[in-house]
Amino acid sequence: MPASTQLKELLADNTMPAAPELTIMEKNQRVRCLACGHRCRIGLGKSGVCRVRFNDNGQLRAPAGYVAGLNVDPIEKKPLYHAFPGCDALSFGMLGCDYHCSFCQNWISSQTLRDKRAVAMPNFVTPEKLVSLATTNNVPVIVSTYNEPLITADWAVEIFKLAKPHGITCGFVSNGNATPEVLEYIRPYVDLYKVDLKGFDDKRYRSLGGVLQTVLDTIRLLVQMEFWVEVVTLVVPGFNDSTQELQRIAEFLAGVSPDLPWHVTAFHPDYHMTDPSPTPINTLLRAHDIGTQAGLNYVYMGNLAGRKHAFEDTRCVKCDELLIERHGFSVEKNRLRDGRCPKCNTPLPGFGLTRPS
Ligand code: SF4
Repeated sequence: MPASTQLKELLADNTMPAAPELTIMEKNQRVRCLACGHRCRIGLGKSGVCRVRFNDNGQLRAPAGYVAGLNVDPIEKKPLYHAFPGCDALSFGMLGCDYHCSFCQNWISSQTLRDKRAVAMPNFVTPEKLVSLATTNNVPVIVSTYNEPLITADWAVEIFKLAKPHGITCGFVSNGNATPEVLEYIRPYVDLYKVDLKGFDDKRYRSLGGVLQTVLDTIRLLVQMEFWVEVVTLVVPGFNDSTQELQRIAEFLAGVSPDLPWHVTAFHPDYHMTDPSPTPINTLLRAHDIGTQAGLNYVYMGNLAGRKHAFEDTRCVKCDELLIERHGFSVEKNRLRDGRCPKCNTPLPGFGLTRPS
């Protein structure tokens, strides 16, 4: 039996009934899934666009009981710069995605069941075990990441429900292809949300499997619902690096909130997209300028392979005092005093900023 068929059966065996909040029963035993913006209508025996949620005898099943990636990462690697600076985040990922980005840097786990070459094996684990890993290692944050967490939100909530009473903060690292229903469902357990905004051109967004407007609506709603949100744009030469497109992204974000951190990060050739060169530093500098000119208070450059530069630090928006000095994923100095500038006392917007790192 081919490895991909074996994997499909293995994953089907490791599922749970999807949360009722994310399911609508329809005629003829069809089900409507609300876990992501695709809102798939799934017939008997079929799966959704993500391939990992499926209709089993009229019941929507969702992935559960395993991880395909599990690490303790610096929270700066997510990247979340205004939440628990300098702390670790227990990071887990499952398999599958609702997008099929040609430049995906996690395609072996994200493109499972879509691309025969993408075969990553699950490791079986319980929510109790994951939470005890976080508590015994004194890790203050657990994050669902590596693949798209919306499509596996039900099991993430099982983990986060156990984590919260231990004072652990939970987060999603997501493409933002959400629905209002899934955001309502996760909100009691999730406080941190990183969104990829991959461009501002709907046609190109559709080539990745998404819809631009859905992601824009998600970002607005996340902010309204008071998640702590940071946004990343992987700047890909020839794909989304025109001045006009970067301006449209920055103006949109500044219109939602000037305090939304925007990370402009460097592309490296991967998966199907091997033609463009890595993003030149001058392109990121241009994106940084565009972001600040649009009115964003916190624009960061990232993915520069350890090259130290000033645009990975956080400065006070009022007096320009250095607040958090970083080098790559390390916090070298955290000068915040109770989450505020030590010089002028202006608070830094964010979450968990008063906790010592
Ligand atoms: S998570 Fe998204 S892609 Fe998967 S079945 Fe649900 S609506 Fe479809």
